[in-house]
Amino acid sequence: AKSRGRGQFCLYEASMDSEVKNRQLLASELREALEHNQGLMLWYQPIICTHSEKIVGLEALVRWQHPQQGMISPATFIPLAEETGLIIPLGEWILKQAFTMAKRWPQLIVAVNVSPLQLRSRNFIEQLMQLVANAGIAPQQIELEITEGILIDDEHEANALVCSLRERGFHLALDDFGTGYSSLSYLSRFPVNTIKIDRAFIQPLGLVDNATAIVRAVVDLGHAMHLSITAEGVETREQYQALVAAGCDRLQGYLFHRAQPPEEINALLAAEIVDDDS
Ligand code: C2E
Ligand code: CA
Ligand code: CA
Ligand code: CA
Repeated sequence: AKSRGRGQFCLYEASMDSEVKNRQLLASELREALEHNQGLMLWYQPIICTHSEKIVGLEALVRWQHPQQGMISPATFIPLAEETGLIIPLGEWILKQAFTMAKRWPQLIVAVNVSPLQLRSRNFIEQLMQLVANAGIAPQQIELEITEGILIDDEHEANALVCSLRERGFHLALDDFGTGYSSLSYLSRFPVNTIKIDRAFIQPLGLVDNATAIVRAVVDLGHAMHLSITAEGVETREQYQALVAAGCDRLQGYLFHRAQPPEEINALLAAEIVDDDS
């Protein structure tokens, strides 16, 4: 029994070891993908105005086509990039790509996800202003999507950062709203422009009794604070109708469009113009 115990222990250790090795390998492959600008792509998901039903914005979502493993989800490799510090160069690459495309889509807001680590990195604002200048766009065209994560450590520092980004003209959206600890209290202290209600609150609309009441309360609260409200993960007509009734300003989800490459976005935008003419 004793030796079996030892054996099991060794087996456990070995599997831990290979798990760590896999992640290390993936991290070094991510570093190479970045260095050689291979396999990383930025796709865009349209954001729809509830009233006009037109595309008013695009959220940039990163994709990684791995040479052997196929598409790897950002839900997997963004945390890995955060653990290894690669999020800094990756984040810069993402901003640069998104700003270049923003120049080509001057009528639209381009939303970019910014990791807390990236946001708090030294010279982030200087880097951002440099990238905006290089791309030849105005900060007003960019919406930075941040999460509560940035607000956890040093609240004063986070508040100063958010204020300073606002002063320079960037829009700020609080992403995944409602999933954290104390979203409501944060909201009163961080001057964002937009709340993005997490998909977790959109999914139960029309299925669960109080779901509509919760969404309505968030929309009313946000509007009372002069914020605009985006719902993410809208998949069904029922959800759509509930969100229209609740007064939600912008909608995003598979019911409308998935994230897609820039060429396909261009085709969508061109089709919208044709619609207008008829
Ligand atoms: P997120 O910022 O909350 O992005 C929304 C996610 O929901 C995206 O997944 C999007 O494709 C997906 N989605 C959109 N509409 C629907 C829908 O109707 N139904 C369902 N089931 N899903 C929908 P994605 O692209 O896999 O990204 C996952 C997460 O990875 C993002 O969540 C974000 O936290 C992170 N991420 C993605 N791109 C970036 C990036 O460029 N930078 C950083 N820092 N994080 C990113
Ligand atoms: Ca987002
Ligand atoms: Ca989100
Ligand atoms: Ca989410």
